[in-house]
Amino acid sequence: MFDSLSDRLSGVFDKIRGRGALSEADVRDAMREVRVALLEADVALPVAREFVEQVTERAVGEEVVKSVTPGQMVVKIVNDALVELLGAENAELNLNVNPPAVIMVVGLQGSGKTTSTAKLAKRLKEKDRKKVLMASLDVARPAAQEQLAVLGRQAEVETLPIVAGQQPTDIAKRAVQSAKLQGYDVVILDTAGRLHVDDALMAEMKAVASAATPAETLLVVDSLTGQDAVNVAKGFSAEIDLTGVILTRMDGDARGGAALSMRKVTGKPIKFAGTGEALDALEPFHPDRVAGRILGMGDVVSLVEKAAETVKQEDAERLARKMEKGKFDLDDLALQIKQMQKMGGLGALAKMMPGMKGMKQATDIDDKALTRLEAMMSSMTSEERQKPKIINAKRKRRIANGSGTTVQEVNKLLKMHQQMEGAMKKLKKMGGFSKLASMFGG
Ligand code: GDP
Repeated sequence: MFDSLSDRLSGVFDKIRGRGALSEADVRDAMREVRVALLEADVALPVAREFVEQVTERAVGEEVVKSVTPGQMVVKIVNDALVELLGAENAELNLNVNPPAVIMVVGLQGSGKTTSTAKLAKRLKEKDRKKVLMASLDVARPAAQEQLAVLGRQAEVETLPIVAGQQPTDIAKRAVQSAKLQGYDVVILDTAGRLHVDDALMAEMKAVASAATPAETLLVVDSLTGQDAVNVAKGFSAEIDLTGVILTRMDGDARGGAALSMRKVTGKPIKFAGTGEALDALEPFHPDRVAGRILGMGDVVSLVEKAAETVKQEDAERLARKMEKGKFDLDDLALQIKQMQKMGGLGALAKMMPGMKGMKQATDIDDKALTRLEAMMSSMTSEERQKPKIINAKRKRRIANGSGTTVQEVNKLLKMHQQMEGAMKKLKKMGGFSKLASMFGG
């Protein structure tokens, strides 16, 4: 997610981060580069311009130049401005109406509308314990209603039985009526898509909206289409009352222009991000976490949430207890590696860890390499795993021989451990630790 933007920005900040002093001219130079990075990421021009002006003004005004860690100050100011740009807080669904609460999902064909409908239904059912009914109003595309029924079976969410020949507004009314009678909390209406925003589509959306009075009207747009996604959102919101946006295919979006411009240009919050094809690949959109990922500062909270879903409780508690003491030894690393393999590999996770982004050694590790790491760790004595500092040249040779690897590889492993230990310490300093521990169940 946002890799190319993120790489560009870390390039800019790397130049200023470690420096003891920054002149106003240095700050302005850096901001010029930030602007280029944003434009390359396909951020709307006025948005990029205003962003950079604002950040420059704050950075020059806020005594960055005199601060002890001026580079860090600049990064913090950029981070805060990014969070604001993305919408400050996570915008939640507002379903506090007399049940059933209707969510109308709209968007162009191919944007990921039907998939997102099913993902959202699954999420509301599993995370919020809602009783959810889905209905497809897409009578234009023959297989559309059946597609939603198939996804419904996968997601274990009910879909409204299909009645051939029924019109969208009638389907909507029937869905709301059945939901009322059968005690559903939420009805999600998957409306018809078109290739372009056109009058017929808008007329249909309006008719459905007045028939079903949705509590939420969510527009689904494809983040890979960059500024087009923003323009589609402008087009829709000029005609109907959107309450939010679901931005799909964020998993493949290296640039991030749509995500960064959406709020500012349309005034509509991004409520969810689609991050894959699987039905659980839908995340609430948290501006602060996304900003953290863009700036390579890691997304610790999401990392921990992901871990909490995957990790065995007793392992998690053991790790939390040790980390509480600021400890992270090679036994922990071995455990982490096992869990990381389960969670999509080290590369995916490293990107979420503070300070890990751009650490080539860590992110280049593939599955085969993970197996070699495990072999090296099982060739160590438990004392060595707990106190890696005692591993001298002789011990390294023994470990390499025992695991069929080389001393260089053992060195690499030790270096990686040091980096992770450092990241853990950093995390603790950042104050994120108590939250982490409580989420791990510690
Ligand atoms: P619709 O025409 O708007 O209803 O689009 P669909 O829901 O049928 O989705 C079109 C394709 O996009 C399908 O193959 C989906 O699996 C895929 N898709 C939807 N959302 C995402 C996402 O967030 N990430 C990825 N990688 N693929 C997605």
